[in-house]
Amino acid sequence: MTKLVLSLALLSLLAVSATAERFDFFYFVQQWPGSFCDTQRGCCFPDTGKPAAEFGIHGLWPNYVDCRGGGGGDDGGVISMVGRRGRCWPQFCDDGNELRPWEIRDLIKSLDQSWPTLACKGGRSFDFWSQEWMKHGTCSNLGQHEYFAASLALKAKHNLSAILAGAGIVPSDTETYFLSSIRDAIAEGTGAKANLECNRDADGESQLYQVYQCVDKAGKKLIDCPLSMNSKCRDRVKLPVF
Ligand code: 5GP
Ligand code: 5GP
Repeated sequence: MTKLVLSLALLSLLAVSATAERFDFFYFVQQWPGSFCDTQRGCCFPDTGKPAAEFGIHGLWPNYVDCRGGGGGDDGGVISMVGRRGRCWPQFCDDGNELRPWEIRDLIKSLDQSWPTLACKGGRSFDFWSQEWMKHGTCSNLGQHEYFAASLALKAKHNLSAILAGAGIVPSDTETYFLSSIRDAIAEGTGAKANLECNRDADGESQLYQVYQCVDKAGKKLIDCPLSMNSKCRDRVKLPVF
């Protein structure tokens, strides 16, 4: 009997390790709502109302380190798709594992605040969380509750807008800031080097859109980003008012 239990335990361990997705680190991506909204496409507020003027979560994305190309420096190059399986990351790892509302019921209030949808797609933030779970979460080796709790904990750890404000970088529709001072403020304030992504406002001006913090495979500890990119950013960028 003991033997049977032991072999069953061993078998289930093997099954878990066989299905464990291999990746190297997470990108924890947050979006500045002012920069999502002031583009030509615009934005819509979720059914819970206008989100706070702070960075909102976009997702927690498993990633491969072995993914080079596109300059990897400050030249605005976009990392090319040369990772394993032709991509720099795994995605959609389990189509049968849809996000179940009751799994995250105790997190809904915090998620509504910290992970609001701004896309004009019906206004339900749950649909955004669900899409992020299916595309990235199912590859994270975390359970549904763990994935969303880890994301909320990462956001709570460091308040990016407060860190930037501490360095004199405050939302403004006229001011521009050196990209390097944004990068330095985040590295100093969080203790880890992050990557930055910009987009253009309706007038074509470069602005800080997303911050990519890098996180260990457990989804807990910030690390210096192993690949550097400052995607689509100019030397000076805006941080528009939201
Ligand atoms: P975009 O083309 O707008 O940069 O990215 C579109 C989508 O591709 C993102 O929302 C995200 O799901 C995925 N994606 C883009 N870059 C990365 C990356 O570096 N790592 C991972 N894991 N996903 C990414
Ligand atoms: P990804 O960019 O991770 O591949 O996918 C983002 C998906 O979530 C897109 O289908 C996008 O329309 C949807 N989405 C819903 N709300 C938001 C939001 O606030 N920001 C972003 N970037 N995408 C959102």
